[in-house]
Amino acid sequence: MIPGTFDYHSPDTLDEAIKLLNDLGEDAKVLAGGHSLLPMMKWRLAEPTHLVDISRLSDLDYIKEENGYLCLGAMVTESALENSELIAAKYPILKDTSEVIADPLVRNLASVGGNIAHGDPANDHPATMLALNAIVVVCGPNGSKREINIDDFFLGPLWTALQDNEILTEIKIPIPKQYSGGCYIKLERKVGDYAIAACAATLDFENGQCISAGIGLTNVGPTPVRASDSQNMLVGTDVSDEIIEKASVLASETSQPVGDHRGSEEYKRGVVKTLTERAIMKAKNRALGGN
Ligand SMILES: Cc1cc2nc3c(=O)[nH]c(=O)nc-3n(C[C@H](O)[C@H](O)[C@H](O)COP(=O)(O)OP(=O)(O)OC[C@H]3O[C@@H](n4cnc5c(N)ncnc54)[C@H](O)[C@@H]3O)c2cc1C
Repeated sequence: MIPGTFDYHSPDTLDEAIKLLNDLGEDAKVLAGGHSLLPMMKWRLAEPTHLVDISRLSDLDYIKEENGYLCLGAMVTESALENSELIAAKYPILKDTSEVIADPLVRNLASVGGNIAHGDPANDHPATMLALNAIVVVCGPNGSKREINIDDFFLGPLWTALQDNEILTEIKIPIPKQYSGGCYIKLERKVGDYAIAACAATLDFENGQCISAGIGLTNVGPTPVRASDSQNMLVGTDVSDEIIEKASVLASETSQPVGDHRGSEEYKRGVVKTLTERAIMKAKNRALGGN
């Protein structure tokens, strides 16, 4: 398939990119790694007449800890996350997530910012970012900047809180406490496919008790799903096998899968239950291993 015609813009700075978006209006789209946008253009599901390429903005490409947060520049690629020593040591849930996205060729270009900005509930980072209580940093015209809580970011399928003239610049994740752990587990039909379902789980412990929990689910709703009841079941407990079983049932009940070529609704609910159970167990092991 061949996309419609468009003008290509390659700004040198973030300000220039935002100005272009602002001047060109709703017919312009940000181009990052292009691995979601270009297929959509080829299928004519998106027909922007201007593409503003931000892939050369090197100041959006960093992984660093600052002021109590892990800060990921929007243009950090999946490969960079997968191969980062900091991520492997302190944020294994992000490594889990990146390495099950597509294939190495896609991961070399696909950006973490694009994965979130695309607003696809089948993408893998959104559920992980829910579990991690991430904050999305967005820049707009005239130097404006806002921070959006991840729970307020996803509004519907391929629909987010981003305005047409804004660019997602950074994702901020609170630095984990001493006894914290998280993991992401995905079931796919074959390597490189989108999830049948997936679960991201994070746990924080203090004196052997769970003091906070995050559970995010992939591809089982119109947006990534936060399994709040499941989280609440875990908090204030020692996260025993019995509690994990109950929390997994609640996650399955909270999910809103629809039957399709990846399986029936009932099957997907079963998958959510099993993956949630496994993800919580692994997060607990990682947490009590002291990260
Ligand atoms: C074969 C294949 C398999 C895949 N499998 C998976 C998978 O299993 N799991 C998964 O999660 N993903 C998968 N993907 C999607 C891939 O990870 C995408 O690249 C990613 O979701 C989007 O990142 P990108 O940098 O390519 O964004 P682009 O495609 O460039 O952009 C996607 C959308 O986000 C907007 N956008 C991008 N960056 C910004 C920004 N910084 N600010 C504002 N708007 C922005 C664009 O305007 C566009 O609307 C797959 C892709 C392919 C081609």
